[in-house]
Amino acid sequence: MKDREHLYQLLPQVGEYLDSGEGRKLTQRFRRQEVRDALRAEVARLRQAIQLGQLIKDELEQRLDELPLSLESILQAGTSQALRPVVNATGVMLQTNLGRAPLSERAIERIAQVARGYCNLEFDLHSGERGERGAHVEHVILKLLAAPAPRQPIQQSALIVNNCAAATFLALNSLAAGAEVIVSRGELVEIGGGFRIPEILEKSGARLREVGTTNRTRIEDYAAAATPDTRLILRVHPSNFRIEGFTHRPTLDELVRLGQRTNLPIFEDQGTGCVVDMRQCAIGETSSLLRSARSGAALVAASGDKLLGGPQCGILVGDRIIVDRLRTNPLYRALRVDKLTYAALDMTLLAHLEGDLDSIPIFHMLNMPADLIRDRCERWVQRLDGATLRAEVVAAQSVIGGGTTPGISVPSYAVELTHADIADEELARRLRDLTPPVIARVTAGRALLDLRTVGEEWDATLPGLISESLERNRSPIEREKPA
Ligand SMILES: *Cc1c(COP(=O)(O)O)cnc(C)c1O
Repeated sequence: MKDREHLYQLLPQVGEYLDSGEGRKLTQRFRRQEVRDALRAEVARLRQAIQLGQLIKDELEQRLDELPLSLESILQAGTSQALRPVVNATGVMLQTNLGRAPLSERAIERIAQVARGYCNLEFDLHSGERGERGAHVEHVILKLLAAPAPRQPIQQSALIVNNCAAATFLALNSLAAGAEVIVSRGELVEIGGGFRIPEILEKSGARLREVGTTNRTRIEDYAAAATPDTRLILRVHPSNFRIEGFTHRPTLDELVRLGQRTNLPIFEDQGTGCVVDMRQCAIGETSSLLRSARSGAALVAASGDKLLGGPQCGILVGDRIIVDRLRTNPLYRALRVDKLTYAALDMTLLAHLEGDLDSIPIFHMLNMPADLIRDRCERWVQRLDGATLRAEVVAAQSVIGGGTTPGISVPSYAVELTHADIADEELARRLRDLTPPVIARVTAGRALLDLRTVGEEWDATLPGLISESLERNRSPIEREKPA
């Protein structure tokens, strides 16, 4: 018992420890409150181990010697797991794991304004009465997507939900629960992140009626499959792969005509949300939300944070009567978005309406000339190339990513980093340890920084930060040499 009392006395006082040399080193790097909490938890753990007789004096002393290190690793893990900004040097513009589309400055400003106080989310400023959530944004979407005046056949409506997966789910549930949906076998795809068309369909309560084959489905296959139990024809944009060779797939227009003949609504999961002619961006023709929305399809779903370049959300556009069935489904209440999403989406749509593509980061990156990227790489190399860390400019290929334009890449340049003492994977790990973490592309034993996806605002500071952190690191042999 007396022994234990003695051991307890070795435990540090939290307040004293925080003001000691070791404590100060930690509070300079982490928030004082976090250091204090971590320290309290560690001391409590040691106290309990003493109480249970699990620690003898030597062991306790060793644990106390290691206390600064264990606190540091606890605090480090805490911050590194928190959501925080990273530098995307992978050259993948819509990197799903890194949060897909960055937002425009205008969108960010509007989010901040709306978040700071109250807003007219469900309030009509004219009448002073309750208003329709999202009515304004839905109006702007229709303005952006509406066909030119002579071709405005049916009254359209729009609806925003949490993401494109939610949009598809809500559509299938609202329009086809308990009945059949016709889908081509070539479109029973997995989009990524566990979004599989057959599974979503089953969960929605609809029944899958597969037609055609993996590589070839004809319009007659759809026509032959329709029964009185059919409610919908689903067409899915194969966004993250390409089938080449002996293939056939009816166009959306063919399906729309079939739908008119058979009185079956066509629902297209368009996915990319692209409203820009990608030929302008030196990308070939791609699937387009604009074209789909004007095709006469009953309903189209797309993502807000792919090629639209806005916040995560799902955009539904279609015949007013159909969209109203989705809006009045109780599930919509569970899938709707918050005011911050409307704020960001509104500003993104406005930029598209004004044709101000450069203000949307994904298009700013995509349209950045390769020559400009090479110049930036050269300036980075001048600051980075040293004795142990070597840097050179190499040609690279950027991709849009996010399951939008499979097989298409854009010529770019990158800074290739090599290190005298550490291999590429370890080099990439050290880059991730920086603040901000830098995510490099590692291929074929090379660590590359593709500057297309790295904002120009980093050019002034990041090369210095990288060089400082990696040049400072000497090899173990050098470290053992007497000073
Ligand atoms: C990306 C994509 C989805 C999923 O979109 P989220 O917004 O991530 O839910 C669904 N369908 C298609 C065709 C897609 O390209």
